[in-house]
Amino acid sequence: MFSTEPATVRRMTFSNIAQTSRRLIAARPLQSCSACHPGDHEPRPILRSQLLGWRITCPLCGDVLRHSAEHDRPSPFDRYRGAALIGERLLDDEAERGVRTWTSPAEIARLLLMRRVPRPLPRGYEPWRFRVLGAIIPDLDDVIERRSLPTPASPILPLNLRPALLAGAAIVERAGPEMLKMLRANMMGQNQARFSSAIDEIMTPASRSMASSQLQLI
Ligand SMILES: [Zn+2]
Repeated sequence: MFSTEPATVRRMTFSNIAQTSRRLIAARPLQSCSACHPGDHEPRPILRSQLLGWRITCPLCGDVLRHSAEHDRPSPFDRYRGAALIGERLLDDEAERGVRTWTSPAEIARLLLMRRVPRPLPRGYEPWRFRVLGAIIPDLDDVIERRSLPTPASPILPLNLRPALLAGAAIVERAGPEMLKMLRANMMGQNQARFSSAIDEIMTPASRSMASSQLQLI
C-alpha cells in the first residue's frame, strides 16, 4: 500500500509507530541507497528508508545504506555484521509491524546508550565515552566520538556506529532479561537507578500495578 503513495503521505504513517521507535525516525534524510536512489542534482522524493535510524541496509534491495550528505566512513564493526542484521530486523519488525519479543528492541537500544562506569577507571577518564553498549562490544569505547553520540535532540547514531548498537540489541534480545541485570552492574548512582527502574518495567509490566498497591500496604 505504501509504495503507491507519495513520500509526504507515507511519512504520515509514522504516527502509527510506537513512541520508542519513533524517536529513531529523522526529520531529514540521513542516508540513502546508491542503487535505489542514485545521486544526481534533481529534486527527488524522499524514501521512507532514508529517515529510519535503525536501518543499515536498504529495505528495497538489501544494499548497504550510505550517508546522504556527510562523510562516508567505513564501519569499524564489520565483524558484528551478522548480529547487526538481526538487530536491524528486530527493530524493523517492532517499528513497522508492531512485533515485540520479550521486550521492545528499541527500548533495549535506548538502554544500551546510557552511560556506564568502566572499572578500573582508565587514565584520562572521559565519562561521556563509556556506554553500556561498550560492555558488550568493547571496540566501541575507542571508536566513539563525542559529536557522534546521540542526544535528546538528535537520538540517532551515525551509520558507521549503528551496526554496534543493532548488534548489541540483538545480543541482549537473544540472551534475555538476565543480561540486562548483569549490565546494570556496570553503572553507578542515578544512572544505575534509572536503568534499574527501566528494566523493572520491562520485566514486570503486568504486575506493576499490583506491586505498587502492595507497596502502599507496607
Ligand atoms: Zn536499495
